[in-house]
Parts: sequence; structure tokens; C-alpha cells
Amino acid sequence: MKHLTIDPATSGLPTKDHVGTKAFPEAKTTKVHPSNAKEEDTNATLYFIGTATTLLEWEGLRILTDPNFLHAGDHVHLGPGVSAIRQTNPAIDIEELPRIDAVLLSHYHEDHFDRPVEDKLKRDLPIITTPHAKSCLTAKGEDSFTSVHALDFFESLQVDVKGSASQGDSQKKPSIKVTGMPGKHVPPGPLAVANDILKAVPPTNGWMIELGYSSGPEQFDNGYRIYISGDTLMIDELKEIPERYKDQSIDLMLIHLGGTTIPGPSMPLLMVTMDAKQGVHLMQLIKPDLTIPIHYDDYDVFMSPLDDFRKAVVEAGLSDKVLYLDRKDQFKFNVRQGVGSSAGTEADLDLMATKVSTQAVG
Ligand SMILES: [Zn+2]
Repeated sequence: MKHLTIDPATSGLPTKDHVGTKAFPEAKTTKVHPSNAKEEDTNATLYFIGTATTLLEWEGLRILTDPNFLHAGDHVHLGPGVSAIRQTNPAIDIEELPRIDAVLLSHYHEDHFDRPVEDKLKRDLPIITTPHAKSCLTAKGEDSFTSVHALDFFESLQVDVKGSASQGDSQKKPSIKVTGMPGKHVPPGPLAVANDILKAVPPTNGWMIELGYSSGPEQFDNGYRIYISGDTLMIDELKEIPERYKDQSIDLMLIHLGGTTIPGPSMPLLMVTMDAKQGVHLMQLIKPDLTIPIHYDDYDVFMSPLDDFRKAVVEAGLSDKVLYLDRKDQFKFNVRQGVGSSAGTEADLDLMATKVSTQAVG
């Protein structure tokens, strides 16, 4: 497994020209799941900025996903002859971001990493992304990003925190395990072949983000598992996800919807992200405890409105499994501590038994 060590004490603001500190953005509404859960029992936050841009905070660690801070009316270029116009404003501007420790970028497309963002981000900000995006971000000569980490499908990277220890157990440190998940932005077949030649739509990853604790390079206890679909269609490769995570709960799914259709609304030829129907199919395949839709109304090429998804969810009887966030809303959840392990559950149980007996004696 690859490793990346970050030090929140030295991370600072994510942009080149801004210094000082900024507070974590204030939410319009805070939501929990189930709705009667207590906010004081939560220890992690997901703040929705817009498109697929979210801010995840847990144990003082902050990860920003797919940064896109354009405003309504701004254009993005999405491939030869394909552009789109933003319809919404982000919840905050990039200059209002607080300290960020790393960026998770699903693919190198301007509605996920726009040109002003590419200009403004600090060059040494760690970015975890696809091999394709890495090749783009590190081929800018003196202006290249210097800490870009590529993950293939099912390849993992553990983000370790420098120098911190979780409460009550000096051996275990908060860690985030990020694993690349399969995704296809173009349907398989002749169009995919044509796209490979034209390089119009870039390769994309989904992600499995596991928030947990680690006591060594190969040891990790998951406390909360988040699957992010990325800009994918419903493809056969996604079936491998529930197989690989069999017997391991997926707590949250962030699904990129919108039914993005190119070249555009006046010529709707090819859908390249999930619409409402595919979104419900993905819920039925992955079976997460909770799903939050993102990437649903921010560009004019997103042609499947969120209301279509709401209806499809009701029809499928899955209403209690979905939570809706507006831009500026946040979702608060609880990362479990001291349960489960992806490496040697038996050994951990032994360790726990030892601790319990030690406490009993003490
Ligand atoms: Zn997109």
C-alpha cells in the first residue's frame, strides 16, 4: 500500500496568494442520519460546496474533493467541441476555504478542476487522482504540482497524520485509506474506442474513503466507509465493488448524478454520467446505509434533474436511504473507534481482550 504523510500543522490555506487562517465554513443547515440522531454524537463533517466539490473534516484532517469554484454564467471546456455553462454558484469561493490537507480529484475535467482553481492552488498541495490527471498536473514545467499521487482502480494509499495520536490509545493514529474505484465516463463500445483516440473525455476514478485508525504501515481499522462514484455510468466493472467489500458496510455513498449529456442541450447525443434510473440501480448494487446525491444541477449539460432522482428513489422504496444536501448544507456523522479491522481481526480481538482484562485488574 502506498503512503502519504501529512502534517495539518503546516498545511495552511490551499491557494498560492492567501495567507493566514480561515474558519471552517458555516453551514446553512446541518443534517444527520437517521434524522433523530444527535449532532453531539458525531465527530465528522461533510460540507457541500457544489458540483462534486465537498469538504470533509475529521480528527482535524481536511480533504477537498473535485474543486470547482466557477460561478453561474462561466463556461467550461469538456472536450473537443464540448463546452458547458455553469448554472449555479458555489457555496463559498476558493479564497474562503480553510486550511486543506489534501485534494481528491476524480478526473481531469473542468467541471471538477476548473482553470482558475488550477492557477490558484498551491503547487505543493497534495493531490490524489488518476494516472491521467497526474500526467497533466506534473507536465506544467516550473508550474507543475509537486505532490500528486496516482491511484489505479483498486489501488490504495493510506494518508497518515504526522505526530498525532488518538485519544485513549497512544499506538493508534487517525488515518484515511483511499482506494481507487472503477469508473467509465463513456459507455463501452465503439464510442469508447473513438474516445480513446480523440482523448475527449478523460479516464475517471471513483473512490473508497475509509476513515479510521492505524498503528502501523499495514494495519488499519476502519471506522466509517464512504464510496464516491465519480463521473461514471452504470457499468459491469462496478459489480466488483460489493464483491470486494462483502461483509464490510459502506456507510455513505456520494453519487455523481446529473445525466450529463454531450455535446449539449441543443444536441443531446451521449450521456456520460448517471441519470436518476442508473443512480437508483447503483444504490441497489452498492447498498450503502445512506446515499447523498451530488453533481446534479450545476451545468446546462446536466440533463437529469434532481427531482427525477427523488421520484425514482420513492418508487424504489428507498426514501429513508437518501439524504439531500443543498449547497452550503453539511452532513455530520460518527466515525467509530476501536471496531473492526481490515488486517487481522483475531489479533485485534485478542488485544482488546487483553486491554479489558488489564482494566479489570487495574
Ligand atoms: Zn462532471
